[in-house]
Amino acid sequence: MTRTFLTGGTGFIAAHILDKLLEADHSVVTSVRSHEKGQWILKNHPGVSKDKLSYAIVEDIAKEGAFDEAIKSDPPFDTVIHASSPFHFNTNDSKKDLLDPAIIGTTGILKAIKRSAPTVKRVVITSSFASIIDGSKGMRPGYVYSEKDWNPVTEDEAVQNASLGYRASKTFAERAAWDFVEKEKPNFTLATMCPPLVLGPIIHHLQSLDSLNTSNQRVYNIMSGKAKEELPPTGTFLWIDVRDLAFAHVRAASMEEAQNKRFFITAGYFSNEEIADIIRDNFPERKEKLPAKGVKGGGYPEDGLYKYDNSRTKKVLGIEFKSLKESIVDTVKSLEAAGA
Ligand code: NDP
Repeated sequence: MTRTFLTGGTGFIAAHILDKLLEADHSVVTSVRSHEKGQWILKNHPGVSKDKLSYAIVEDIAKEGAFDEAIKSDPPFDTVIHASSPFHFNTNDSKKDLLDPAIIGTTGILKAIKRSAPTVKRVVITSSFASIIDGSKGMRPGYVYSEKDWNPVTEDEAVQNASLGYRASKTFAERAAWDFVEKEKPNFTLATMCPPLVLGPIIHHLQSLDSLNTSNQRVYNIMSGKAKEELPPTGTFLWIDVRDLAFAHVRAASMEEAQNKRFFITAGYFSNEEIADIIRDNFPERKEKLPAKGVKGGGYPEDGLYKYDNSRTKKVLGIEFKSLKESIVDTVKSLEAAGA
């Protein structure tokens, strides 16, 4: 049985990775920030034994040495999946709230593995399309983004605002991981996952809908009446379902061909207008709250849009992508179950 350390099992994406790992018969230790959060995870997996699922406390991944104790395990770990990193725009201090946890968190886990967990052979890191796209080039009609592209964001730009800060945090953290592997030549191989916007049902613990994860907020806003008069701009026009992304992490951890590769993981294009259309067609009882068909905003840019090459993900990881309809319907149902 493969023994895996998963960081941040309380997160939107990591909660799905955790379930896919258990389905694939891994024995999992996940890091959480408090006992309360760890206990919630255990309570929500009632049939799973202690040797298959447990947690370790890592309060703040931005602290040097944060993972030094959690990475020591008996039996020892074979695999590490690092998914915890802040994804929000609620800060005026990008360095403290975005860059440090992303970069120090990433280098911290890699150093801890090298020092104290020599049995680890594979590491998978959740990076982002933010580390690929060059935001300064706008919609870039005709350009094809793939794993060969790197966001050229600079350290000066990184502290200008939270949006640049987030994109830089993912870019610098992923670069730091590849640099670590190149310079330190550790015992493990690396694979990085670069998804664009991640949508799909929530299965993690939510204090309230006010603390909903960032990427699902647009679905919640549209379904709950906040976009009735006008749909907000879509921003990033590429997406992936969280269950497909979680499965991709587990595949990347288990397949020889996936080692030492980046993966640009996207199911394709979407727009906020399409999200609204899917909700309108499938949840007629929400009609009063939804924008009318054809309302202003939320569509594709008139002058065209960048293209994407997701062939490596399809070929190496063998992912068959869920449709936007399935993803949005399941997201809305899960948000309704949470009180929306
Ligand atoms: P969430 O906000 O749901 O999860 C973030 C996770 O990181 C939580 O477990 C959170 O812990 C943990 N975390 C954040 N800061 C710290 C810290 N300082 N110390 C310890 N733990 C911390 O976001 P997602 O699940 O959406 O994001 C997970 C990963 O996926 C991130 O790396 C993000 O950049 C990446 N990603 C997400 C996309 C998306 O659209 N959702 C798109 C592309 C990449 P706690 O729950 O205790 O706060």
